[in-house]
Amino acid sequence: MPDETLFILNRPSTDAPAHDPDGAPFALADVALPHLSVMDLAATRGDGVFETLSVFGGCPQAMDHHLARFARSAAMLELPAPDLDAYRAAILAAAAELDPAQEAFVKIVLSRGVEGSGVPTGWAYGELSPDHTAARTRGISVAVLDRGYRCDVSETSPWLLAGAKTLSYAINKASMREAARRGADDVVYLSSDGILLEGPTSTLIFKRGNRLITPDPALGILDGTTQANLFRFAERQGMTTTFGRSPLEALRKADAAWLVSSVRLVAPIRELDGETFPVDSELTAAMNGYLLDLRE
Ligand code: PLP
Repeated sequence: MPDETLFILNRPSTDAPAHDPDGAPFALADVALPHLSVMDLAATRGDGVFETLSVFGGCPQAMDHHLARFARSAAMLELPAPDLDAYRAAILAAAAELDPAQEAFVKIVLSRGVEGSGVPTGWAYGELSPDHTAARTRGISVAVLDRGYRCDVSETSPWLLAGAKTLSYAINKASMREAARRGADDVVYLSSDGILLEGPTSTLIFKRGNRLITPDPALGILDGTTQANLFRFAERQGMTTTFGRSPLEALRKADAAWLVSSVRLVAPIRELDGETFPVDSELTAAMNGYLLDLRE
């Protein structure tokens, strides 16, 4: 079985023309060959949206939640609405190409296409996942960085696309490099008015007593699929769960905290801005075990 696979959508949106009017909805493509025009707005402007789903036992996880978020991100960018049935089928096709005994992921993309063409570009790319055992067990060190926006930015300035999963991740990547310069593995963003937000590629969850708290998606952050699954798990364990608007101090006082995301899953924070941070190894293992066993 291949380590990676690619399906290209012929008609990523039913609101826009197909690339080939007689073509199949999507087709297997050779990953080693070039497929994207240098004039595609994905490449020239980052003008598009994406989702990354984990695949466990050959089964893409939280597909409905990811597809709903994909459609919402596209609407925020005023892109043609993605054909979710076509994307769902392409995700399943990509997942089926990869070894079900290994952890994998599928990334779906919708871009505005070649400038002026009015024909969006779409694909589903699947790959075996890197080994994230160390982050899941030993944990990660985190630097707190100012995101530079107030926490009400999605209301005051929707054109900043806060909370949309756009292809423009250069800032997120730059934040990770800044974290590395500070000797940290990852980042927690703070709004310019001091409210906890999210990581550049993850959702923050922290624990106080029997309660799990995550920043409210209304703060202009992504509504996390992994966080949603973990809140279901925690509620079944008798814990309470809350969407909050919390200052950095709340994280500093937490009993434990994690950055969670679809592929790396649950990474406990073991150091915050250079200070040792408490790790709840038992709960972390239970959360990762729960996610790895999910087949939905
Ligand atoms: N926040 C941001 C900015 C992200 O990029 C991601 C995932 O890539 C997440 C949160 C976590 O989302 P999910 O758990 O759905 O992967």
